[in-house]
Amino acid sequence: MSRAGANTPGGWRGSAAQIAVGRASIIKWNRTRHLQPKCGAARKRDGEPCQNLAMANGRCPRHGGKTGKGNNWHRPVWPHRDAPDAMAKLDRKLKALDRAAAKRAKRVAAMSPEQRQRYDAWQKTHQPGPAAARQRKRADRKSAAEIRDLVSQPRPAPSAEVLELERLIADRKADLARVTAENEYPDPGAFG
Ligand SMILES: [Zn+2]
Repeated sequence: MSRAGANTPGGWRGSAAQIAVGRASIIKWNRTRHLQPKCGAARKRDGEPCQNLAMANGRCPRHGGKTGKGNNWHRPVWPHRDAPDAMAKLDRKLKALDRAAAKRAKRVAAMSPEQRQRYDAWQKTHQPGPAAARQRKRADRKSAAEIRDLVSQPRPAPSAEVLELERLIADRKADLARVTAENEYPDPGAFG
């Protein structure tokens, strides 16, 4: 069977013209491939730059990884349970997460106090998960800081007017207490 007209005899798919267009575009791509940005991660085999084509983040999919998006922002992406090698993938994933955690712990332990402070602040503002939850936490932190600010400011000394008002309030409270006490224990003569 010839390639030309494999699907629809006389059609575009598989025609000599389509093959020519495809070939030209591949040749063009190959001519510019070396100009595309490359992944700069150190490769395992010899520590040299990886050289695979880079994604927008400057790393190839193997080294830059694909970070969970949306509600799973920065959360591990688990293999699909129907994948034929789901268990092996899950195993690899868990091991990789363990390795990354150990590496991170080592890096954090070696930090200077200022670096550690910056790191903790970043961690606080970059919790994995949905954007809405992060937004909410950010707003909570902001209002808590504002309240802290307000509370920490020294209170101004009360003015003469305020002192006079406080005295009047104390008097009224005393009046009220007296009246309440009298009503609780009424004069026995009232029932005579
Ligand atoms: Zn790479």
